[in-house]
Amino acid sequence: MSDNKNILQGRPVERVLDVSLGELLLMVMRIHEDNVILVDAVSDEELRARQLLARGIHLAKWFQSLNISIGDSVSITCENRLEFGIVPIGAFLLGVTLAPLNPDYTVAELKHCLGLSKPKIVFCSDKTIDKVISILPEHEYIQKLVLFGGRRHSHPSVVSFNDIVAGVNDIDETFKAVPIDTKETVATILCSSGTTGLPKGVMCTHDNMTTYIDVGRMIMAHLVENDDPSDAIIGLTPFFHSFGFMLMFLNIIRGKKMAVIGKFKLKVFLDTIVKYKVRRVIVPPPVLLIMLKHPLTNKYDLSCIKEIRCGAAALGKEMEKELKQRFKVKSVSQAYGMTETTLGVLTTEEGTEPVLGSVGKVVPGMMAKVINEEGQALGPYQEGELCFKGPLIMKGYVGNPEATAETIDKDHWLHTGDVAYYDKEGNFFIVDRIKELIKYKAFQVAPAELEALLLTHPAIQDCAVIGLPDDEAGELPLAYVVKKPGQQITEEEVKKHVADTLSHQKHLRGGVIFTEEILRNPTGKILRRILREKAKNLVKLK
Ligand code: AMP
Repeated sequence: MSDNKNILQGRPVERVLDVSLGELLLMVMRIHEDNVILVDAVSDEELRARQLLARGIHLAKWFQSLNISIGDSVSITCENRLEFGIVPIGAFLLGVTLAPLNPDYTVAELKHCLGLSKPKIVFCSDKTIDKVISILPEHEYIQKLVLFGGRRHSHPSVVSFNDIVAGVNDIDETFKAVPIDTKETVATILCSSGTTGLPKGVMCTHDNMTTYIDVGRMIMAHLVENDDPSDAIIGLTPFFHSFGFMLMFLNIIRGKKMAVIGKFKLKVFLDTIVKYKVRRVIVPPPVLLIMLKHPLTNKYDLSCIKEIRCGAAALGKEMEKELKQRFKVKSVSQAYGMTETTLGVLTTEEGTEPVLGSVGKVVPGMMAKVINEEGQALGPYQEGELCFKGPLIMKGYVGNPEATAETIDKDHWLHTGDVAYYDKEGNFFIVDRIKELIKYKAFQVAPAELEALLLTHPAIQDCAVIGLPDDEAGELPLAYVVKKPGQQITEEEVKKHVADTLSHQKHLRGGVIFTEEILRNPTGKILRRILREKAKNLVKLK
């Protein structure tokens, strides 16, 4: 029986951008000319469209001088900063892939993730340069490190970013973007563990991204009609994550102003909202929670905010209501997406009323369905796994066809590992997660990564890591641990074992539960749902 009636389609996407990102940048950045695109929220330093493009072209020419060309990768690992915006321009003009990485990654995490994209150049800040230097001998494909911030470094492989582009303000009008196959050429490789296993490199093509630009134009049409030229948005969501990266990049394409915040401090965030009269606050839920709960917020007149949008993690219904009442905004809405879907594939279009608790409807060009365990597409109000198909689905996981095939089936449907239902109007509601992934403050934590590390401890025989629900952080990583017979290990020692190797988002803030055995199904799969329920009850009893 055909279950096509249970497939929900966004309206057709009007494709106007059948060009590469490089061609597009050359076109639009010239039009935006003197618009301030990126401004540092603390120092007020600015980058205008003309400077971004002139320096992006200069950077592309520097890449060419090092024989870096289409198909090669460059990586960037730093906090949000203005120079970040120049690097994708330089890369995309040549069809070079950009692989942003979390600047909080430890050396062990960097080793793994750099091994996915194998970049020839890594752009670093003071915070990350020494970590990357320490692993250079094991990553021989890295030719040079580029250091932001003007400081010179004594290491022979390190070049100062300022020595490459500082002071370049004139656009080389003769420069042409390298012709590429937009459906095949990979624009970005971002990290995500997907539904299972270790972090993997998500390949999004130029076509994925230009499709999103077209989709964005359609879903923001109302906003554009009511545009305020002085409108600024805040660049607080990390640029290494698809949400933050795409916000920043779409902003460059739109020629609008983004006030960039490198490190979250509530005061800086609130000052920035007031200073730039920010009308649309677009951040992940944990930031909104702090804004709502912290007494400092009371000292600010935030009446400039008209709209709050969030994504990358769940925003509870209660918080949605509280935000609306407290800040007297027209709308509070959330979008849903994955790194593997380029950006949000469910959203509330600008100018339409959000439905409380919903993540919105299918965006133009995409199809969605909710399936049961037999793979049948379900009707309204029935919970099942959420799946998507269409031009925003990633090309695949780099160097990992098996993981790609596990996630995207032979009919091209991407299985999200999230549980959802939709109502009669096609509004989606996310209710649970069946995949392994834990989200701590919207950051990905892959249980498989923590489990593999825990098993290297001589006193640990078996383990399972799950997410303990938490009002503030969304979820906290918690480990069930089986000790080896005759061995002793304390909760603190287990926590330290993780903290010594992995970045702070992955630390076992949910605690450690010692147990006799790890619950598994007959095929050996950890019964994570049951463990999650058990942990919730145990923690309640404490
Ligand atoms: P990432 O690839 O880091 O963006 O993580 C994607 C995952 O974040 C999704 O598969 C969901 O589990 C979760 N997620 C993203 N947006 C939402 C949302 N609005 N509500 C609930 N979960 C979300």
